[in-house]
Amino acid sequence: MEWDEFERWGAKAAEFGANYHRGLRDRPVRPDVQPGEAAALLAAAPPEAGEGMEAIWADFLHVVPDRLTHWQHPRFFAYFPANAAPVSMLAEMLVSVMAPQCMLWQTSPVATEMEGVMVDWLRQAMGLPEGWSGVVQDSASSATLSAVLTMRERATGWTGNREGLSGKGALRVYCSAQAHSSIDRACWVAGIGQENLVKLPDTGAPAYGVDVAALRAAIAADRAAGHVPAGIIAVTGGTGIGAWDDLAAVGQVAADEGLYLHCDAAWAGSAMICPEIRAEMWRGVEMCDSIVFNPHKWLGAQFDCSVQFLKDPQQQVDTLKIEPEYLKTSGAAVVNYSEWTIPLGRRFRALKLWFLLRYYGLEGLRGRLRNHVAWAGEVCEGLRARGFEIVTEPILSLFTFRGPGDDAAQQALVDAINADGRIYVTQGLHRGRKVVRFTVGQFDCTREDVMMAVEVIAELSARRAEG
Ligand SMILES: *Cc1c(COP(=O)(O)O)cnc(C)c1O
Repeated sequence: MEWDEFERWGAKAAEFGANYHRGLRDRPVRPDVQPGEAAALLAAAPPEAGEGMEAIWADFLHVVPDRLTHWQHPRFFAYFPANAAPVSMLAEMLVSVMAPQCMLWQTSPVATEMEGVMVDWLRQAMGLPEGWSGVVQDSASSATLSAVLTMRERATGWTGNREGLSGKGALRVYCSAQAHSSIDRACWVAGIGQENLVKLPDTGAPAYGVDVAALRAAIAADRAAGHVPAGIIAVTGGTGIGAWDDLAAVGQVAADEGLYLHCDAAWAGSAMICPEIRAEMWRGVEMCDSIVFNPHKWLGAQFDCSVQFLKDPQQQVDTLKIEPEYLKTSGAAVVNYSEWTIPLGRRFRALKLWFLLRYYGLEGLRGRLRNHVAWAGEVCEGLRARGFEIVTEPILSLFTFRGPGDDAAQQALVDAINADGRIYVTQGLHRGRKVVRFTVGQFDCTREDVMMAVEVIAELSARRAEG
């Protein structure tokens, strides 16, 4: 492709982007498509001869936009958001056109140094202690796996990588039953095993935090049984209902027992830029060794962007660093972030953080988060007033509810809402009961977008009741 042609189509792509976003409210959040429909629109075999951009572009417009679930739709209330503030899209476009691979300082000096500064901006914004550092990863799953591997190496006297785990006893990791499935998977992949991930009960409303007495008892019982406690994973803002652990209490257990403490704040971490929120939910956060949060969820940095803060990065580097000759860098001491993570190759993820934080400022971002929390509360009250059962009260901008009827009726309500297309929600399971899960967080949603959910849910629930 000649660069003149690139320039023309690049302008067209930007124009498409603006029009796509302007038109999102007129689209159903989730498309009405059948499995296999999209694949059937694609040629079964690759072309032998090249095709022109006109044909590729026309097919893009024909095939793609109508068959996407629109994650940037302002009435997306499902899962957690995967936000992309417009300014972070621009940063990603620039990263795409420069296309660096940022594994070492020398393979992209500015990307490495900007990453260090952006992690430190976020450390300050979130009130974390001076002296902590961190790294930008692709996902919370990767950061949590890195932390679990560090727990493993620490608990085996840094011999696991070299010798394997045979004969080293049952390494044990502890978390709340409210913890995310990425923690199970990290324990599988790290060779710890599902049966050695000890899931402790929560203590119920309002925070659904882990039962700290049960945590202490489990560790004592494991030591008595000859097992090897390796670490604890705390949660700030669990995926199901927003559960959050008392970090001061859990941190004291970790300190008393000499265990590594990782905190999964993938979703709720973004809200910790608000001092009043972290004063409540992050008391004791300085007792953690590692924390992960995803700016690509609630903060607005385009997917993917997951920040892992580390009290002592050397422990993770000792776990993950490998340096064959071709990766050695001569000269001055520099940070090579690929030594902090599992993949070697790294994208330039810091640029979108730099653009995002500068364009909106912390106050602009805090304002959005506080609005989302307030509006989720209003939707909750609106549904309560219309007779819905609020099963779990809002934690930040997440709550769960039930309409009339049994579990099957709840799923049918979710299906009816999503088929309608004006809003999008997902179901959950709380204490064995099916619930409808509702969370606010799309970057540019308005109060009107959010409040429409009350009417849509009430209308579709009533229509179902009429049969
Ligand atoms: C989303 C989420 C994860 C997983 O995040 P990925 O970046 O997709 O791996 C883990 N924990 C919690 C609490 C989450 O909300």
